[in-house]
This record gives sequence, structure tokens and C-alpha cells, in this order.
Amino acid sequence: MPLISGNWKMNLSHAEAVQAVKKLGILLEGMKSELTKPEIRRLEAVEISIHPTFVALRSVQSVVEAESIPVMLGAQNCHWEDSGAFTGEVSPIMLSKLNVRYVIVGHSERRRIMGESDEMINTKLKAVFRCGMIPILCVGEDLDQRENNETESLLAYQVKAAVDGVSPDNLSKLVIAYEPVWAIGTGISATLDQAQQGCQAVHSLVGSSARVLYGGSVNADNASQLVRCDGIDGLLVGGASLNPDSFADIVKQSVIS
Ligand code: PEP
Repeated sequence: MPLISGNWKMNLSHAEAVQAVKKLGILLEGMKSELTKPEIRRLEAVEISIHPTFVALRSVQSVVEAESIPVMLGAQNCHWEDSGAFTGEVSPIMLSKLNVRYVIVGHSERRRIMGESDEMINTKLKAVFRCGMIPILCVGEDLDQRENNETESLLAYQVKAAVDGVSPDNLSKLVIAYEPVWAIGTGISATLDQAQQGCQAVHSLVGSSARVLYGGSVNADNASQLVRCDGIDGLLVGGASLNPDSFADIVKQSVIS
């Protein structure tokens, strides 16, 4: 089942997040009147997750459940312990109690700005599984690494380090987002070939059951071609997911013939 995930990053207050998800629900429902029957079936088969900030999660959960909005709840990060003296952190068990389904782990902004190590990412990833949720592991090369032809070796290193000790059963449920760092928030998406090669390289490391998303400046213009590439099982969308109109448009472009 394809997955389209919206990473809201450090944006939208809890009230704005509620407005955004309500509008997204209305747009997803309204979209059906413009789609053919096969397209509606494809829409129903797409899984959509939204990843608000921690402070908005509870409010968004309430409205999603009360209004049966067809999106899964996601988080952007978590700690690896269930509780304890970790000031400022949020535990995976707390997220699971809010019915969070997907947790982004190892986003490049956390690796780069917060100094998250591969070991921390591995521990977080296992904690997310332990609490019954699914990690969306982010991997991807920076521009220097691409220019030095290090993309595949870097992907192999990041993926192997992150999944060390993960059971085959959990590995098959894992979601990995191939996100070239140079494409994130820059407006410069990877070409279809680059996106496909990266996603296929990740698939070759974890098998075909794990889902591999592409992320990096996805918008309504490039979404349709990206999701049709063999080996790309969905999209991780940052900036364009903040506006319900553009996020709904990305979903629509992904399902129309
Ligand atoms: C992201 O932050 O995961 C991302 C893909 O951002 P953007 O879509 O804005 O490039």
C-alpha cells in the first residue's frame, strides 16, 4: 500500500494544526467527486500520515478520530526509553497511547542540527517497533557525497547501522525514506532517475517488503511521476504538506490516471 506522509516539522500551533487537518479531511472527501472509480479505489488504497509537532498531537488525534478523517497520526521523533530522567524528551510509549502509527527516525535535520548518531537512530528505531508503531527511517546523501560518488555506500552504511538487530519480521514492516539532503527544502527535487536509483538501492538492502519513500522538494507537479517509478512506494513531503490544498493535490496527483 503506498504511503504519503506529511512532515510538518516545527510549524503550526495546535490550533492551526487542527484547522489544517480538518481542511485536509474536507479536501480528501471532496476529491472523490472529481475522480473515476478506479482512481477512487487507488485513493482508498493510499495511506496518508501527518506528522504534527508533539504539542499538537493530542488535538489532532481528537479531531481525526472524532471526524473519521482518513489519515494516520505520525510523530517526527521520539526518545528510546519509555520514561525517566530525560528532560525535554517524549517517549515512544507516550506516542503509542495517542494512537500514533508512524514515527520519523533519523531525519537529516535531526542528524545534522541535533547531532543524532547512527547508534541513537538504531536505538530509537527499535524502541518504536517495541511500542507497536512503525518507524519511517530517513537516509540520504549530501551534495558532496553525491558528487564524490558515495551515495550508494552512504545509503548502505546508514541503513545497516539503523537496522542492526532488527528482526526480519520488523524489517518487513519498516518504512525508509530516501531523502537526498540537497533536495530537502531547496525546491530542487532529485530527478526521476536519481530518486529511483536511491530507492532501489535501499530496497536491495532491506528487501522488497519494506516500503521505500522518496522525499525532497516533492510538490503537486512532480508527485505523479515519482510515485509511478518502480521501487518508489510513496512520498515523504515537507514544505508542501503544510498547506492542505497542496498536500491534497499531491495525494490527488498520485492517484489519477
Ligand atoms: C523533509 O523534510 O522530509 C522534506 C522532504 O522536506 P521538503 O519536502 O520541504 O523538501
